[in-house]
Amino acid sequence: MDKSADHHIHSTYNDHSDSDLTIKNVIDFAENMGLRKIAFTEHVRRTAEWIPKYLGEIQMCSRNSSLEIISGFEAKILSNGSIDCPQEYRSEHFLIASFHTIFGNKEYWINALKLAIQDPTVDVIGHLAPEPDFKMSAFEIDSIAEEIVRNQKVVELNSKYRRPPLDWIASFKRMGVKFHLGSDAHKLESIGCFENINHLIAAAEGSIK
Ligand SMILES: [Zn+2]
Ligand SMILES: [Zn+2]
Repeated sequence: MDKSADHHIHSTYNDHSDSDLTIKNVIDFAENMGLRKIAFTEHVRRTAEWIPKYLGEIQMCSRNSSLEIISGFEAKILSNGSIDCPQEYRSEHFLIASFHTIFGNKEYWINALKLAIQDPTVDVIGHLAPEPDFKMSAFEIDSIAEEIVRNQKVVELNSKYRRPPLDWIASFKRMGVKFHLGSDAHKLESIGCFENINHLIAAAEGSIK
């Protein structure tokens, strides 16, 4: 697992990150801590109006950086399985699809997840974990893994929420799912910070069973 790449970073383009989490500060901070690659993945909705400014600022600040810098979005998986992101930005940019609402119904949830996995514009499934009330069978978890592999999506190991759960990672690993790391940083100090999920990383690398 490449700890020099952080694939999930927010910025001041949302209203709940630290005020010093500017695009420029994120890049400077990541360079100083020796990261190689970062992805800006701001929370987006279909109605978002700040996107051109956000993308322009990333492009401008990336010019003199030694980092590999990806511009993208984190979008909500809606109850019908669609992704809450404007269509025109999707294929050109990195897209994480995540659950941000409680469905309260396991069948609907699995169905929406599978539709999101099948969406050709989605690159990554973010901080994936079942809702606390869901009892998921090994068969159900494997069937999700199968869908992920078939559609060549990446599953993020998320250090903010410490997800996915260990048994999901074990199943995913067995089924051949690919993983990468995301801090889900809403403040500078969280960027590239993965020490708290060493057990998940070990499971994804297959060094523990
Ligand atoms: Zn999220
Ligand atoms: Zn996030």
